[in-house]
Amino acid sequence: MPHRLRDLLARNRDWARSVEARRPGFFTGLLAQQAPQYLWIGCADSRVPANEILGLLPGDVFVHRNVANVVVHSDLNALSVMQYAIDELHVRHVIVVGHYGCGGVTAALLGRRVGLVDNWLRHVQDVRSKHRAWLDALRGDETRLAALCELNVLEQALNVCGTTVVQDAWARGQDVVVHGWVYGLHDGLLQDLEMTVQHTGQVDEAYARALAAVRRRYDASSAAAALVPPPTAPHPRR
Ligand SMILES: [Zn+2]
Repeated sequence: MPHRLRDLLARNRDWARSVEARRPGFFTGLLAQQAPQYLWIGCADSRVPANEILGLLPGDVFVHRNVANVVVHSDLNALSVMQYAIDELHVRHVIVVGHYGCGGVTAALLGRRVGLVDNWLRHVQDVRSKHRAWLDALRGDETRLAALCELNVLEQALNVCGTTVVQDAWARGQDVVVHGWVYGLHDGLLQDLEMTVQHTGQVDEAYARALAAVRRRYDASSAAAALVPPPTAPHPRR
Protein backbone atom coordinates (compact mmCIF):
# COMPACT_ATOMS: atom_id res chain seq x y z
CA MET A 1 0.00 0.00 0.00
CA PRO A 2 1.38 3.47 -0.85
CA HIS A 3 2.80 5.36 2.10
CA ARG A 4 0.15 8.07 1.89
CA LEU A 5 -2.73 5.59 2.10
CA ARG A 6 -1.09 3.91 5.10
CA ASP A 7 -0.96 7.36 6.61
CA LEU A 8 -4.72 7.75 6.08
CA LEU A 9 -5.40 4.50 7.91
CA ALA A 10 -3.12 5.59 10.75
CA ARG A 11 -4.98 8.90 10.95
CA ASN A 12 -8.25 7.00 11.10
CA ARG A 13 -7.02 4.91 14.03
CA ASP A 14 -5.91 8.06 15.86
CA TRP A 15 -9.28 9.69 15.23
CA ALA A 16 -11.28 6.66 16.42
CA ARG A 17 -9.11 6.45 19.55
CA SER A 18 -9.59 10.14 20.34
CA VAL A 19 -13.39 9.98 19.87
CA GLU A 20 -13.63 6.87 22.04
CA ALA A 21 -11.41 8.49 24.68
CA ARG A 22 -13.69 11.54 24.83
CA ARG A 23 -16.93 9.55 24.66
CA PRO A 24 -16.44 5.96 25.80
CA GLY A 25 -18.83 3.59 24.01
CA PHE A 26 -19.55 6.12 21.25
CA PHE A 27 -19.15 3.72 18.33
CA THR A 28 -20.94 0.75 19.87
CA GLY A 29 -23.76 3.14 20.78
CA LEU A 30 -24.18 4.04 17.11
CA LEU A 31 -24.56 0.37 16.18
CA ALA A 32 -28.07 0.23 17.62
CA GLN A 33 -29.53 2.97 15.44
CA GLN A 34 -28.94 6.24 13.66
CA ALA A 35 -31.29 9.08 14.43
CA PRO A 36 -30.02 12.17 12.63
CA GLN A 37 -32.13 15.32 12.75
CA TYR A 38 -30.69 16.78 9.59
CA LEU A 39 -30.34 15.91 5.92
CA TRP A 40 -27.53 17.94 4.33
CA ILE A 41 -27.62 18.29 0.54
CA GLY A 42 -24.34 19.91 -0.40
CA CYS A 43 -21.57 20.20 -2.95
CA ALA A 44 -19.02 17.40 -3.37
CA ASP A 45 -16.24 20.01 -2.99
CA SER A 46 -13.58 18.71 -0.56
CA ARG A 47 -13.59 22.05 1.24
CA VAL A 48 -17.23 21.74 2.31
CA PRO A 49 -17.48 18.64 4.56
CA ALA A 50 -20.85 18.56 6.34
CA ASN A 51 -19.92 17.10 9.73
CA GLU A 52 -16.80 19.18 10.26
CA ILE A 53 -18.50 22.45 9.33
CA LEU A 54 -21.41 21.74 11.66
CA GLY A 55 -19.14 20.44 14.42
CA LEU A 56 -21.14 17.19 14.48
CA LEU A 57 -20.02 13.62 15.06
CA PRO A 58 -21.04 10.53 13.07
CA GLY A 59 -24.74 9.80 13.52
CA ASP A 60 -25.90 13.43 13.61
CA VAL A 61 -26.34 14.34 9.96
CA PHE A 62 -27.45 12.35 6.90
CA VAL A 63 -25.55 13.57 3.86
CA HIS A 64 -26.01 13.73 0.11
CA ARG A 65 -23.40 15.53 -1.95
CA ASN A 66 -22.91 16.06 -5.67
CA VAL A 67 -21.26 18.63 -7.92
CA ALA A 68 -22.87 22.03 -7.25
CA ASN A 69 -25.52 20.70 -4.79
CA VAL A 70 -28.07 20.10 -7.50
CA VAL A 71 -31.48 18.49 -6.86
CA VAL A 72 -33.00 17.12 -10.05
CA HIS A 73 -36.55 15.77 -9.99
CA SER A 74 -35.55 12.58 -11.80
CA ASP A 75 -32.29 11.91 -9.89
CA LEU A 76 -33.02 8.57 -8.25
CA ASN A 77 -29.90 8.87 -6.12
CA ALA A 78 -30.92 12.16 -4.48
CA LEU A 79 -34.58 11.12 -4.30
CA SER A 80 -33.66 7.84 -2.61
CA VAL A 81 -31.53 9.65 -0.03
CA MET A 82 -34.37 12.07 0.66
CA GLN A 83 -36.97 9.29 0.85
CA TYR A 84 -34.91 7.24 3.29
CA ALA A 85 -33.97 10.26 5.39
CA ILE A 86 -37.54 11.56 5.65
CA ASP A 87 -39.65 8.39 5.63
CA GLU A 88 -37.37 6.08 7.60
CA LEU A 89 -35.07 8.28 9.68
CA HIS A 90 -37.62 11.08 10.16
CA VAL A 91 -35.14 13.91 9.81
CA ARG A 92 -36.66 17.24 10.83
CA HIS A 93 -34.64 19.51 8.55
CA VAL A 94 -33.51 19.24 4.92
CA ILE A 95 -30.77 21.78 4.28
CA VAL A 96 -29.51 22.63 0.80
CA VAL A 97 -26.03 24.06 1.24
CA GLY A 98 -24.23 25.85 -1.56
CA HIS A 99 -20.89 27.59 -1.27
CA TYR A 100 -19.23 30.66 -2.69
CA GLY A 101 -16.46 29.99 -5.19
CA CYS A 102 -18.12 26.75 -6.36
CA GLY A 103 -16.23 25.31 -9.34
CA GLY A 104 -19.41 23.79 -10.79
CA VAL A 105 -21.31 27.06 -10.57
CA THR A 106 -18.32 28.91 -12.04
CA ALA A 107 -18.23 26.56 -15.05
CA ALA A 108 -21.99 26.99 -15.51
CA LEU A 109 -21.77 30.77 -15.24
CA LEU A 110 -18.93 31.15 -17.72
CA GLY A 111 -20.05 28.34 -20.04
CA ARG A 112 -16.67 26.68 -19.45
CA ARG A 113 -16.37 23.14 -20.85
CA VAL A 114 -15.04 20.61 -18.34
CA GLY A 115 -16.21 17.23 -19.67
CA LEU A 116 -19.05 14.86 -18.87
CA VAL A 117 -19.96 16.99 -15.86
CA ASP A 118 -21.06 19.73 -18.28
CA ASN A 119 -24.29 17.77 -18.74
CA TRP A 120 -24.92 17.79 -14.99
CA LEU A 121 -24.08 21.48 -14.79
CA ARG A 122 -26.76 22.19 -17.40
CA HIS A 123 -29.09 22.30 -14.42
CA VAL A 124 -27.09 25.19 -12.98
CA GLN A 125 -27.05 26.83 -16.39
CA ASP A 126 -30.84 26.61 -16.28
CA VAL A 127 -30.69 28.61 -13.04
CA ARG A 128 -28.42 31.13 -14.76
CA SER A 129 -30.81 31.36 -17.72
CA LYS A 130 -33.81 31.88 -15.44
CA HIS A 131 -32.11 34.87 -13.79
CA ARG A 132 -29.94 35.96 -16.69
CA ALA A 133 -31.16 39.52 -17.15
CA TRP A 134 -30.61 40.32 -13.47
CA LEU A 135 -27.25 38.53 -13.27
CA ASP A 136 -25.95 40.30 -16.38
CA ALA A 137 -26.74 43.66 -14.82
CA LEU A 138 -24.43 42.96 -11.84
CA ARG A 139 -20.91 44.34 -11.86
CA GLY A 140 -18.14 41.79 -12.45
CA ASP A 141 -17.90 38.02 -12.72
CA GLU A 142 -16.99 37.56 -9.03
CA THR A 143 -20.18 39.25 -7.93
CA ARG A 144 -22.20 37.35 -10.52
CA LEU A 145 -20.64 34.07 -9.32
CA ALA A 146 -21.49 34.76 -5.68
CA ALA A 147 -25.03 35.72 -6.68
CA LEU A 148 -25.47 32.60 -8.81
CA CYS A 149 -24.20 30.42 -5.95
CA GLU A 150 -27.00 31.85 -3.80
CA LEU A 151 -29.63 31.63 -6.54
CA ASN A 152 -28.64 28.00 -7.12
CA VAL A 153 -29.32 27.25 -3.46
CA LEU A 154 -32.78 28.82 -3.67
CA GLU A 155 -33.66 26.95 -6.87
CA GLN A 156 -32.43 23.60 -5.54
CA ALA A 157 -34.27 24.14 -2.26
CA LEU A 158 -37.36 24.88 -4.37
CA ASN A 159 -36.77 21.59 -6.18
CA VAL A 160 -36.56 19.77 -2.83
CA CYS A 161 -39.95 21.23 -1.91
CA GLY A 162 -41.39 19.96 -5.19
CA THR A 163 -40.34 16.32 -4.76
CA THR A 164 -43.02 13.72 -4.08
CA VAL A 165 -41.01 12.76 -1.00
CA VAL A 166 -41.38 16.16 0.66
CA GLN A 167 -44.87 16.81 -0.70
CA ASP A 168 -46.10 13.48 0.67
CA ALA A 169 -44.44 14.09 4.03
CA TRP A 170 -46.16 17.45 4.35
CA ALA A 171 -49.49 15.96 3.19
CA ARG A 172 -49.43 13.43 6.04
CA GLY A 173 -48.51 16.14 8.55
CA GLN A 174 -44.87 15.16 9.07
CA ASP A 175 -42.69 17.89 10.52
CA VAL A 176 -40.08 18.56 7.82
CA VAL A 177 -38.54 21.97 7.23
CA VAL A 178 -36.56 22.81 4.07
CA HIS A 179 -33.77 25.38 4.30
CA GLY A 180 -31.28 27.08 1.97
CA TRP A 181 -27.83 27.98 3.28
CA VAL A 182 -24.59 29.14 1.73
CA TYR A 183 -21.05 28.52 3.01
CA GLY A 184 -18.06 30.84 2.78
CA LEU A 185 -14.82 29.07 1.87
CA HIS A 186 -12.99 32.23 2.92
CA ASP A 187 -14.31 32.39 6.50
CA GLY A 188 -15.77 28.95 7.25
CA LEU A 189 -19.17 30.43 8.05
CA LEU A 190 -22.66 29.34 7.01
CA GLN A 191 -25.34 31.89 6.20
CA ASP A 192 -29.07 31.26 6.17
CA LEU A 193 -30.62 32.53 2.93
CA GLU A 194 -33.98 32.39 4.70
CA MET A 195 -35.58 30.08 2.21
CA THR A 196 -37.35 28.26 5.04
CA VAL A 197 -40.39 26.17 4.15
CA GLN A 198 -42.55 24.08 6.47
CA HIS A 199 -45.53 23.18 4.28
CA THR A 200 -46.76 23.27 0.68
CA GLY A 201 -48.62 26.54 1.13
CA GLN A 202 -45.40 28.36 2.09
CA VAL A 203 -43.28 27.35 -0.90
CA ASP A 204 -44.01 30.17 -3.34
CA GLU A 205 -43.95 32.92 -0.73
CA ALA A 206 -40.72 31.66 0.89
CA TYR A 207 -38.99 31.42 -2.46
CA ALA A 208 -40.16 34.88 -3.54
CA ARG A 209 -39.09 36.43 -0.24
CA ALA A 210 -35.64 34.79 -0.27
CA LEU A 211 -35.12 35.72 -3.91
CA ALA A 212 -36.09 39.33 -3.24
CA ALA A 213 -33.62 39.44 -0.34
CA VAL A 214 -30.77 38.16 -2.55
CA ARG A 215 -31.60 40.70 -5.23
CA ARG A 216 -31.83 43.56 -2.74
CA ARG A 217 -28.39 42.85 -1.31
CA TYR A 218 -26.64 42.54 -4.65
CA ASP A 219 -28.49 45.49 -6.17
CA ALA A 220 -27.43 47.63 -3.22
CA SER A 221 -23.86 46.37 -3.56
CA SER A 222 -23.78 47.09 -7.28
CA ALA A 223 -25.18 50.57 -6.73
CA ALA A 224 -22.48 51.25 -4.12
CA ALA A 225 -19.79 49.83 -6.43
CA ALA A 226 -20.87 52.25 -9.14
CA LEU A 227 -19.95 55.13 -6.82
CA VAL A 228 -16.71 53.82 -5.30
CA PRO A 229 -13.94 51.43 -6.37
CA PRO A 230 -14.89 47.71 -6.01
CA PRO A 231 -14.46 46.37 -2.44
CA THR A 232 -12.07 43.48 -1.84
CA ALA A 233 -14.89 41.26 -0.52
CA PRO A 234 -16.12 38.97 -3.33
CA HIS A 235 -19.78 39.37 -2.37
CA PRO A 236 -21.97 41.60 -0.23
CA ARG A 237 -21.97 40.43 3.37
CA ARG A 238 -25.24 39.90 5.11
ZN1 LIG B 1 -19.05 23.40 -5.27
